[in-house]
Amino acid sequence: MPGAVVLGMGSRAYVALGANLGDPPAQLRRALQELGATPGVTLVAVSHFYRTAPLGPPGQPDYCNAVCALDTGLTPEQLLDVLQRIEHAAGRQRGERWGPRLLDLDLLHVEGQTIRTPRLTLPHPELQRRAFVLVPLAEIAPAVEIPGQGRVGTLAAAVDQSGVAPWT
Ligand code: ADP
Ligand code: MG
Repeated sequence: MPGAVVLGMGSRAYVALGANLGDPPAQLRRALQELGATPGVTLVAVSHFYRTAPLGPPGQPDYCNAVCALDTGLTPEQLLDVLQRIEHAAGRQRGERWGPRLLDLDLLHVEGQTIRTPRLTLPHPELQRRAFVLVPLAEIAPAVEIPGQGRVGTLAAAVDQSGVAPWT
């Protein structure tokens, strides 16, 4: 059907954004703009930006973290392709695990999807342990049930939020 355009269809998905090198909030804003401009992706909500204490190797700068919700007709794998293309365009180098990065985009959850392949695990297995993800996610989707983990608001209330502050 050439010319057919389907809007507003598909699944609700949640993406975590993080950066701790360069100009972190500017990188998040640019990533959001690129996501929203992607054919087949409609951005529906964006959390506030947070300053969070880094995990992993010591001596890293603080992170800027946020979460967005989007509707998409893309498959989860296609959406991961989009996220990795945006990371790459931001100059992301694959380096040390949990090392500093210009941009990290993680697919947290896609409604109705449980996936476990070498390339993609959904829901994101670390979601329930990460205050820097749960605090912004609870802002935009507190009632969402994460399969195998629980309700977002409940998960957020159960983690130590002391390392998560408004970016300002
Ligand atoms: P991390 O986010 O853990 O710091 P990376 O961003 O470098 O690490 O991602 C490592 C790999 O994780 C990617 O190559 C990707 O294929 C895989 N991966 C598995 N599940 C997911 C997911 N839900 N979201 C994003 N990447 C994922
Ligand atoms: Mg990642």
